[in-house]
Amino acid sequence: MKFNFYSADINEDYDPTKYLKKFETLSEAHDRRRRLISVLPEYGEPGRALAERLSECGFFRCRSAGCPVCLRAFRRWWGSTLAEYMARDPEFWFTVSIVPPDLFDLGHLDGFNCDRLKDRVRKQIGRGPISAPIVLGGIDYDLKHFDDGRSPRWCPHLYLLFSGGGKALVEGTFRRHYPKSGDVERPVVVTSQKTRDKDLVTTATYTFKARFKNRMPSTDSRGNADTKVDELAVHHQAELAILLDRQGFLGRIIRHGDDPSFPALKLR
Ligand SMILES: [Zn+2]
Repeated sequence: MKFNFYSADINEDYDPTKYLKKFETLSEAHDRRRRLISVLPEYGEPGRALAERLSECGFFRCRSAGCPVCLRAFRRWWGSTLAEYMARDPEFWFTVSIVPPDLFDLGHLDGFNCDRLKDRVRKQIGRGPISAPIVLGGIDYDLKHFDDGRSPRWCPHLYLLFSGGGKALVEGTFRRHYPKSGDVERPVVVTSQKTRDKDLVTTATYTFKARFKNRMPSTDSRGNADTKVDELAVHHQAELAILLDRQGFLGRIIRHGDDPSFPALKLR
């Protein structure tokens, strides 16, 4: 049977809705879904099909990864599950942000193959200097803008939690695979994870975002607080929703490693 996150437990001690002031409310998710449904039909057959699926999401949830209401429910489960797991041994986690060089034109995000990206990352971890780490995280999407007249392009990137090793070893795992370029100044950033429960819930939830942004040229590639980073226009959200729907929730996350005490690693 397929994994149903609606029937999975949320650990209340790590529930993002309790910890995070900025976690989207249910009514925000409903608003976003309404706006998506109004523009999705402009995106051909896949858009029309997704609009229909989303409009039928009610008592029986549609469980589409492109549905903001179902996405919110999934994030509560994923964020609380991950934070609970990290809290067992909070000292040994690092956050890793990776920006691969592949960008996609507007209207062509369907050319992004998340399985290929995930396979590559798994191989890089396998060949890296840390033996048998646990790596958990997800794929995030920005629309990257340029200051030289080029049109904005989609930038799929990764945000991972990495257990074990040390900062230099984690950097050593990825840095040589993602060289710096003119457009991406800091393709790999590793930081030590803070250990308070609130920090764990924040980071765990951040690995699977629900709000997607425009990334302006003056912004540091991770400048979340920068006011020049604003939310995607609804039409761009619609293009992204079609991709998210195709990927599915489990398709968008990365899970690597083996720990029998953490069944979420093996859920299918
Ligand atoms: Zn739904």
